[in-house]
Amino acid sequence: TAKRDGRNRHRYFDPAMREAILHKRELIADLRDAIETELVVYYQPIFDCQLQRITKAEALVRWLHPEKGLISPAEFIPLAEECGLIIAIGQRVFDQVCQDLPALKSAYDDGFQVSINVSPIQFAHEETQLTQWVHLLNAHNLSCNDIIVEITEGVMLDPNCETIKKLMVFRDHGMHVALDDFGTGYSSLAYIYQYDIDYFKIDQCFISTLKVGSDTLALCEAMVLMAHKLGIQVVAEGVETTEQAELISAIGCDFIQGYLISKPQPLSVLVSDRKGVVFSS
Ligand code: C2E
Ligand code: MG
Ligand code: MG
Ligand code: MG
Repeated sequence: TAKRDGRNRHRYFDPAMREAILHKRELIADLRDAIETELVVYYQPIFDCQLQRITKAEALVRWLHPEKGLISPAEFIPLAEECGLIIAIGQRVFDQVCQDLPALKSAYDDGFQVSINVSPIQFAHEETQLTQWVHLLNAHNLSCNDIIVEITEGVMLDPNCETIKKLMVFRDHGMHVALDDFGTGYSSLAYIYQYDIDYFKIDQCFISTLKVGSDTLALCEAMVLMAHKLGIQVVAEGVETTEQAELISAIGCDFIQGYLISKPQPLSVLVSDRKGVVFSS
């Protein structure tokens, strides 16, 4: 039985597992102290295929650990979600974005928007969260309109749609909403159409295998068509080659994000290296 297995696992505790747990504990302890001082927000430009220029950027957090170097969010975000530190991290990221957005607006365009990844856990106290965010935006002369909230498509798995319903309160205040990693989360199409979603972000696993005549191209085409029929715009994630950019824009994808345009970069690079046309469709 599961219970006996559990006991056995405990009795013959694997040293490698013990090591992993210790490493995890140490990382959590470090992270707690790092939130204010060692987390930095990078920005990855999002290219508008129609306007042929960069009109948005996604905020991506990084941890500049003094000894371990740059730690990827893929490593510490799941950890932070587990131990609750995600709330403080989310607040820190939002605060940084509010500080940085005015510089991005003046370097690019007044309509420039920043897209922020939000974990469902952050919506546990959505009322306070919303009040804090609106307050921060006001303090920087920004509006809800300047923000896109990204949530992974996986949240649609919840049959009660708790997170998406909470997210709609943010939408009612004027923030925009994107479904991240679209195509990987087994979204129920029956749920999607009931909510006011602004963007689908097609997951990079579809983009990396794009070729003329490929099945993934057919899937992308279907996703774009469905999105447009529902009044939703599409962002392709992880675009690395000109070929991928050409294929995806030929089927009507609205925005491109990926190393072809730029890797995520510090604010200073985005503001000084402002790129003109980097890809023309
Ligand atoms: P995501 O939101 O799907 O972000 C896209 C990831 O793809 C980023 O990884 C980005 O650097 C990477 N990427 C972009 N273009 C390319 C490309 O052309 N090729 C390849 N191979 N990769 C590309 P990153 O920055 O390591 O972030 C990983 C994940 O961590 C994000 O996935 C997001 O789910 C999460 N994350 C990042 N920042 C935050 C945050 O502030 N809050 C929360 N809750 N999650 C965050
Ligand atoms: Mg994202
Ligand atoms: Mg994604
Ligand atoms: Mg992702």
